[in-house]
Amino acid sequence: MSQLYKYDLVIIGGGPGGYVAAIRAAQLGGKVALVEKERVGGTCLNRGCIPTKALMRSVEVLKLVEEAPACGVIVEEPAFDFARLMARKGEIVARLVGGVEALLKTHRVEVISGTATIPKPGLVLVKPATGDTSPASNLQPLTSKNIIIATGSVSARPPIAGLNAPGVLTSDDVLELEEVPDSLAIIGGGVIGLEFTSIFHALGTKVAVLEMLPTLLPTVDGELARRYKSYLQQQGVEVHLRARVEGIHPKGDGLTVRVADSGEEILAEKVLVATGRVPYTEGLELETLGVRQERGAIVVDRRMATNVPGIYAIGDVTGGIMLAHLASRQGEVAVENILGHPVAMDYRAVPNCVFTLPEIAGVGLTEEEAKAERLDYKVARFPFSASGRALTIGETAGQVKLICERESGKVLGMHIMGPQASDLIAEGTLAIQMGATARDIAETIHAHPTLPEAIMEAAKAAAFGEAIHYRKL
Ligand code: NAD
Repeated sequence: MSQLYKYDLVIIGGGPGGYVAAIRAAQLGGKVALVEKERVGGTCLNRGCIPTKALMRSVEVLKLVEEAPACGVIVEEPAFDFARLMARKGEIVARLVGGVEALLKTHRVEVISGTATIPKPGLVLVKPATGDTSPASNLQPLTSKNIIIATGSVSARPPIAGLNAPGVLTSDDVLELEEVPDSLAIIGGGVIGLEFTSIFHALGTKVAVLEMLPTLLPTVDGELARRYKSYLQQQGVEVHLRARVEGIHPKGDGLTVRVADSGEEILAEKVLVATGRVPYTEGLELETLGVRQERGAIVVDRRMATNVPGIYAIGDVTGGIMLAHLASRQGEVAVENILGHPVAMDYRAVPNCVFTLPEIAGVGLTEEEAKAERLDYKVARFPFSASGRALTIGETAGQVKLICERESGKVLGMHIMGPQASDLIAEGTLAIQMGATARDIAETIHAHPTLPEAIMEAAKAAAFGEAIHYRKL
C-alpha cells in the first residue's frame, strides 16, 4: 500500500454488495474500511430478502397446517399469532446481522459507523452516526487509493397524489405492521407487490393488486407471468392490469385508490406502494466529483469502475438489475480488479427469483427476449402435475419451461413456476454459465423422486422431442 493512503480500499455501504466486497478484499490481503450509517446487511438483511422470507415461511407453515387433514394429520383449527410471527422475523434478521458483523471482525475489516461523503478521489469523510451536532472538525477522514460506492436503493416515490396520507405504506413500513389489515391495495404488480400479496392473502387480508402495465411481473417470462395472474385470481386476489394509480384519498377508516383514465376507485384499509426502487446517492457529492450518472444511477464499466479513477460502484446504486446476489458478485469483481486480479462482470446467467406462493424463478433469456433478438429457438415444457415428488408434497401447480437454440440445443433460458423454483433455478444458472445444451441436462442422471427431475424431463423434451413421464395429447 502507498504511504499516502491509510487503506487500500474504503467501501461505502454494508449491504450484500459492500460487505461481500469487504470480506473478499480482506481475503486478498487488502486493508479495508467499511462505512455504514445503520446496521450492516443493507436492505437485503434488514428490510428486504430475509425478513420477507421469514414471513413467507410462517405463511407456508400456516398453509401446511391448513392442508394437514388432506394428508391424514389431525390438527385443531389453524390460527396464527401475528406478533410472534413478526418477532420471529426480527430474531432471524438480528442473528444474520450479528453473523455478518462477526465475519467482518474475523476478517479484520474496520467497520466505521457513520455517513460518508467523498469530497475528492482518495478521501472519504465520515460523519459519526450518533447525533447530528458534530462540527465539521469531527468528520473522520479516511484516505484510500480506491473507493467503492455500495449505497443501494430506496423505495421510489411515484407521482401519485396523497402518498403521505396515514395508512399509505412502503415495503419498509409493512415489515413493522402490528396488526394484519382487513384489506390491502397494492400499487405495483412487480416483485415486491406480489411477494406481499402472497403473504397477506395467506393471512386472510383481502388483497387488490393494481399494475399499470398489461402484465404482472414485467421482467418474468410472459407465459409464466400470465399463468401466475390466473393462479392469483383463482385464489381470490383481485388483479387490475392497465391500472395506473394517480391518487390516494382518505375515506372513512380507510383509503381509496383512484385509477387514471377509468376513474375506478378501490377502497382498502391500507395501501402499499411497491412501484420500484431508485439508486440512493444522497450526500455523496457525486456531482462535485464528476462521477457520471444516468437517471440517478452511477454508470460503471464491466470492471465496476466509474469514469473517475479510483472510484468504483456496485449493486443497486448502479441501477439496472437490483438483486442482492448480483451486487455481491459485482463486489467481488470490483475488489479483484482493485487488488490486481483483472476480471470482467458477466451478466449472462443472473437468476431472478420471485418468492411468491408458488415461487417463480428464471435465468437467461425470456421467450419475449429470444423473439426480440430474432433467435432461432425452441421451447420445451414439463408440468409439475406430472412430477411424482410434486404430487407427494401436494404442490403440482406450475411448470419448467426451457428455451434452447434450435440447432445446437444450447440452453438460452430456463423459467420455472412451482415448488422450490428458487432452488431449482440453480441448475439452469449453471447450465447457462457453462454453455450446456438440453442434451447435457437430459443425459445427466437426476435423483428420483425429486423436483429437479422436472428439469431433466423438460430437457429430454427439448433434446429428443419427448419427455419420459409426460406426453402432450
Ligand atoms: P418492480 O419494478 O419489480 O415493479 C414495480 C411495478 O410497479 C412495475 O410493474 C410498474 O409498472 C408498476 N407501477 C409503477 N407506477 C405505478 C402506478 N402509478 N400505478 C400502478 N402501477 C405502477 O419494482 P418492485 O417490485 O418495487 O421492486 C424493486 C426492486 O427490488 C426490483 O428491482 C426488484 O427486482 C428488487 N426486488 C427483488 C426481489 C427478489 O429478487 N425476490 C424482491 C424484492 C425486490
